[in-house]
Order: sequence, then C-alpha cells, then structure tokens
Amino acid sequence: MCGGRKTVAPYRTLALIDIIDYLGRYSSIMNCMDKINLKSEIQFIKGVGPKMAAKFNKLGVETVKDLLYFYPRVYKDYTNITKIGDIEISNTEYQTWIPGQARDDNSVTISGNIVGINNKTTSRKRFTVTEAVVEDGSGSLKVVWFNQPFLQKMLKAGSKVILNGKISRDPYSNTLQMESPDRANRPMIVPVYSETAGISSKYISKIYLSIENKVESIQEYLPKDVVEGNGLMVIQDAIKQLHQPKDSKTLETARRRMAFDELFFIALKAQISREEIRSEKAPALKIDEKQLKKFTEKLPYTLTNDQKRASWQIIKDIGNNEPMNRLLNGDVGSGKTVVAAFASYVTVQAGNRAIIMAPTEILANQHYGSLCEIFRPFNITVGLLTSSGSKYQKTNIKKQISSKIQTPKNTSDEIFHSIQDDTPKKLTANNLKLEASEADVLIGTHAILHMKKQPENVGLVVVDEQHRFGVKQRAKIKSFRSEGLRPHFLSMTATPIPRTMQLALFGDLDVSVIKEMPKGRKKIETEYVDESHRTLKYKFIENQIKEGRQAFVVCPLIEETEESTKQELFDLDRKSVIAEYKKLNEQIFPKLTIGMLHGRLKVKEKDRVMAQFTSSKLDIVVSTSVVEVGVDIKNASVMMIEDAERFGLAQLHQFRGRVGRGEHQSYCLLFSSSKSPKSVERLRTLERVSDGFELAKEDLKTRGPGEIYGTMQSGEIDIRFANLSDSILISRATKSAKELIEYDPKLSKHGKILSKLGDFLESKHLE
Ligand code: ADP
Ligand code: MG
Repeated sequence: MCGGRKTVAPYRTLALIDIIDYLGRYSSIMNCMDKINLKSEIQFIKGVGPKMAAKFNKLGVETVKDLLYFYPRVYKDYTNITKIGDIEISNTEYQTWIPGQARDDNSVTISGNIVGINNKTTSRKRFTVTEAVVEDGSGSLKVVWFNQPFLQKMLKAGSKVILNGKISRDPYSNTLQMESPDRANRPMIVPVYSETAGISSKYISKIYLSIENKVESIQEYLPKDVVEGNGLMVIQDAIKQLHQPKDSKTLETARRRMAFDELFFIALKAQISREEIRSEKAPALKIDEKQLKKFTEKLPYTLTNDQKRASWQIIKDIGNNEPMNRLLNGDVGSGKTVVAAFASYVTVQAGNRAIIMAPTEILANQHYGSLCEIFRPFNITVGLLTSSGSKYQKTNIKKQISSKIQTPKNTSDEIFHSIQDDTPKKLTANNLKLEASEADVLIGTHAILHMKKQPENVGLVVVDEQHRFGVKQRAKIKSFRSEGLRPHFLSMTATPIPRTMQLALFGDLDVSVIKEMPKGRKKIETEYVDESHRTLKYKFIENQIKEGRQAFVVCPLIEETEESTKQELFDLDRKSVIAEYKKLNEQIFPKLTIGMLHGRLKVKEKDRVMAQFTSSKLDIVVSTSVVEVGVDIKNASVMMIEDAERFGLAQLHQFRGRVGRGEHQSYCLLFSSSKSPKSVERLRTLERVSDGFELAKEDLKTRGPGEIYGTMQSGEIDIRFANLSDSILISRATKSAKELIEYDPKLSKHGKILSKLGDFLESKHLE
C-alpha cells in the first residue's frame, strides 16, 4: 500500500515515533517505486515492516540479499509418493540429515483417502491426539496429529489427502504410524525454512516471491569456464530453484551448484593459506642419521612401519626452511605421541625448542608423562604449562631435571621438582615465563597462548586434536611466530579422515596416516546387546570391576526434560546420563563408586571427575559423548553404550577407543532396543570391523559428516550442500580452485570471487 506522506503538526517537536512513522511511510513509497535493491533492509519489503524484520533478524536475515541467500533447510516432497504397502520398517530408523538429499530426512509421502478420523485425549490429559486411518489401495496406515482437534472437522472420512511425515512405531500397539504429517493439495515440492517464533515457512516463501525478481541483480561470481566446464547451473537459477523448486531433478542440479561452491571456496581458502605459508620461512631443523638412530634405539619398543614413515615424512619436512604444515592422522592407540616426540627430539637436537599443545589439562598431563618417559635417556628438559581456568589462576610448572644429573634409578615423580605458585597474577606470570622458557619441550593447554612473553626459539608446534580448541585459539596458534620465523606445524587427530574428506577439507595440509596398530594389541571384543541380556551384562561389568577394572557408560542425553513435548512420547526410552547415573548408583551397583560427566558441567568439574577416574577412585563413569578423546586410562576395560543406534559408527568407534589401552582384554557393549534390522546390522559392523577409517568411510556415505567432523572443517566454511564422499565433485572443485590460484595467486584479477569468499567466511563468523 502506498501511503501519502504524513504532515507533522507544527506545534509538536518531531518525536521519535513520528520519525519511525515517517520512515515506515517513506519505505512503502520506495517499495512502490521498486527502489528496493539487494542492500535494502528487509523491513522495507512490502508485507514485512519493522516487527517482522526484527524476527527475520533473529534468523540472521537483515537485507534483501540475506533473504535470497536464506535457503530452505529441507523440503517436503509431495511428488515422491510411497505406497503404504511399501513403507518399510527401516523408515523408522533414526537418521541425521544426509547432504545431497533433497528430501526431509526420513519422512515419507503418501496419497490416499481418509477412512476414519477422531479425537482422543491422552491418559495424562495433556494432549489431544487426532487419529486417522488413510487407505491407498495398497494398504492402510494410522496417522496421528497432536493438539490439532480441528482436523477432525477438516479431514472428513472419504476426503483425499497427500500427507508427508515421519514414520514411527506406535510404542503400544507396535504398528507403524505417521506422526504429525503436513498436507498438500497437489503433488509439489514445498520448501521448509528454519523458522523462529512468528515466522513460518509459508510466510518466508510469500516474502521471497515478492522479491524474486531481485535474484537477477546477483552477479555470477564464478568464471564462465568454471561454470561451463563443470556443468553447473548459473547462480541466479540455482537460487530460484532452491526457493521454488520446479521438480526434484532441477532441485538436485541447483543443490549440486551450491555444493560445488562450498567445496570450491573451501579449497580456495586452503590454497590461499598454503601460498601464505610458503611465502614465510621456518628454521631448517637438520640432524644426522646417527642421532636419529640413537632416538629409536632408546625407545622401549620398535616403531611400526607407519610410525616410521610418518616420522620420516616429518623429519624431511622440518629439515627445510619452508614451514611444514602437516596433519598426522592415526586411529586411537596407533601411537601418535611417539611420532610427535621424535619430531620434538629432532627439533631440540637441531638447537630449537618444541611446543606440544593439548585441548585439556588431562591430555596435557598425559602427554607430559609420556614425553618424560621417552626423553629420560636424553639430555632434554620437558615442561608443563596449564592453567586451572579459575579466577585465581593457579599454575603448575614441572621441570624434569636432565637424567645426566639425576640418578637414573629415581622414579619419575622424584626427579621432577614442581613449583606451585598461588601468588597474584603478575608474579606468577614472571615465574612462568622464566621456567617455561627453560624447557626444551614445552607441553601445555591453551595457557601457553596466554603467556605474557612468547616462548623463544620455537622450531616446532604440535597441536593434538586441534578442532577442540576454540576458533580464536586456533587463529592464535596459527599466528604464532618465533624470532620472525614461522615454526613448523604438526596437527594430530584420532578422528579417521577418509580420503575424499581429506581432499575436500584439508587441502592446505600434507597428511601422514598411521593405520597400523602396534604389535600385540588385543582386539576389543565388541558386542551388540539386545535388552534381554541387560542383567547378564551388568553382572559381567560387576565382575570386571571386582577384578580391579573400570567401566564407562555412555548415554545420548543429559537429562530427561521436565517439559513434555510431543517428542517426549517417542523419546521415553532414550537413556539420559542423570537418570542412568541414578539408576546404576542406587539400584544396580549400590556398592560401587560412580561418577558422572556431561557437557553442562564446568570444565573444572569435568577435569576433576576424569582425574578421579584416572586415579581409579571411581569404578564407573556415566557420560555423554563428551568423554575425553585420547584419554589413556589403561585400567578401563568396559565401554558400555546405551541407545547405540543413535550414534554414528565413527563416533561409536571413538568411544570404543577409550578402552583397550592397557594390557587387559577390553570390551565394548553396544546396547540398543531398536528393532530396525538396518540399525542392528549397522551396529553389527562394529563387531566385525575394528579399522576406524573403514567405519568413517561407511558413515560418511550413509550419514554425512555428523558432529565429529562438524568442528573439524579447516576451511571455516559451513557445509550444507556438499557430500563429503562425493569424490567426483570434490576433485572437480579442488582442481578448479587450484588452477585459479596458480593463475592468479592473490585473486587480484578476480574481485568477485574474493568478495564471495569474504561472504562465506563472514557468514560463518556470525554464528
Ligand atoms: P594415540 O595415537 O591414540 O595418541 P598413543 O601415542 O597414546 O596413541 O599410544 C598408545 C599406546 O601405545 C601408548 O601406551 C604407547 O606407549 C604405545 N605404543 C606406541 N607405539 C608403540 C609401538 N610401536 N609398539 C608398542 N607400543 C607402542
Ligand atoms: Mg593421543
């Protein structure tokens, strides 16, 4: 509506309200004149206004351009109709969203007639449940809606419906049913956006349609030969198709374009940072073969071939003055620490110092212990630097006195002298600086990054599980320089990264892989357990503990929610840490000491529980997925996982890696009450396969990158469309990015690409 300009009464000063009113009217004039451009604020779009704009802002949408780039989260596909008779039990399986799939995760569309419909109240009287039966000639299905009693009047018996919803199993009658489906009048693909209170997908679609013509002002940023050479849809069409898909095939082509862009910009960022690193210098850390031999001879074991190869690749890299940027990828227990120690040894022998960083105090302590052992025969000092994170900033510095001075008989504890400093910040910092700067190999948490004076003469920085550091900390680690030189950089992770993913995400890194396990490792006995064997397994755990072992119990939830949602009805039996802890503590194992770990605990509390478990003060720890990656508790022999079907295979494998780290035979028990043959089969693969890389590959194909990889993305660009097992698209995008950087290393001739890269990075930082 085009309103006239309001005249402000002369006797009144211009109040804020008038200005707002004026602006509102002015905007509607603008709208009428179609002055809206990509940069216009969303409130100026017809039908939006300041109130709705505030809601859009909550979704991160501020301008017209933002709205065009605000893509649907999923789609309700009313074109792909499944016959009721063909609905399989596997549809009931819990799945995360799979990139590259246009359809809403495990929803199904049916088309049929209502044969009966009526309202019921639940026993707890909190819900009205509308139950209907739909029939399509191949079979009939029960359909339920919650708290929408009006549906009974709208959908009378005999009416034709197209419904899209999730299939579940009614817990009482054990038959299949469709939960809270949406309806459509004709077969079509309907976008579903991320919604916030007061903004529905329907509304967003309507607003989008009113500005759809603005898509034309978006300029294609990819070079023509990249678009054409890779058979991509042009950006304007892709955007339109994402918002208003013509059919599922065209939608897939649009999604492929977006997937290409994500992979291309990630690769581009990697190439740029690779060039940046190459333009800097690192100290060349050279030592002779004799010294290398000395190191391996003094180890208590022989290195595996993979460990040797990885060590050799690293030694070669750090012997040059081009900075190393390498990832050491080896499954849990494959022995990455000794490789890091080898690299540190070379660094120290060449006259420089090494820093090893870990994401938690427990891990830093553990590395410290291992490295003290390894370096005992050598004249190498090892330091530890962590901060408790409390207000008082209590810091420990332990310094190992060289074994040449000390008598070798001493136990490690005796030859450490530790300085505990509780004095105020300033003094502590001074002491820290002094002491830490003396150690040849400095191990620590992010506390190292906060030292007042940067450690000097650093030739090598090793970071364990880098993705567990915060974004800022990661940036700080990368920006670390010593005497103007960039130290060589080694990142380590136990998360198996399949080859396709490595290509897509870690293009700026050289990668060394350790696949081979040290000799004599006992295979962890893995078993899928169905409910009927629960008591038996509890007995088994009790016996293990009687023999002096310890156990982990992992559950998918923190606590059962007080507030009941419709989800609750279907989630009743999901195990929660708090409830499980209570049950085990009070009913099952009243005589045992049990601790609890979850993400809502403070860091200090988590560390305390882990420390108690490490020192065998606890028999069992009940935990969410936070249970430390990399923690070496040699005495733990049982990993019991509740509702195992809720986790990805790679993640289950990570849990499994928490046990079997000592000499004891260890066990992984996968509990699941899922009746879905697909789920059971998936869990059974863990019984057979102990190779983490195999499992990760499988996972990537069936579930997408999931949470473990979510935080690992080196490119800092969100992946929404790309499928990280799509090797063809990955190599196409990577190749295009490489060619572009070779031709135009600073992208000075490709301003549009540079600014789009900026957009990608910025949108990530908004979160
Ligand atoms: P991760 O790769 O998970 O960090 P660690 O470095 O902690 O693994 O090593 C796991 C265990 O294996 C350690 O106790 C370590 O001493 C031992 N280990 C490492 N390499 C070998 C080897 N070549 N032979 C025998 N034991 C080894
Ligand atoms: Mg480790």
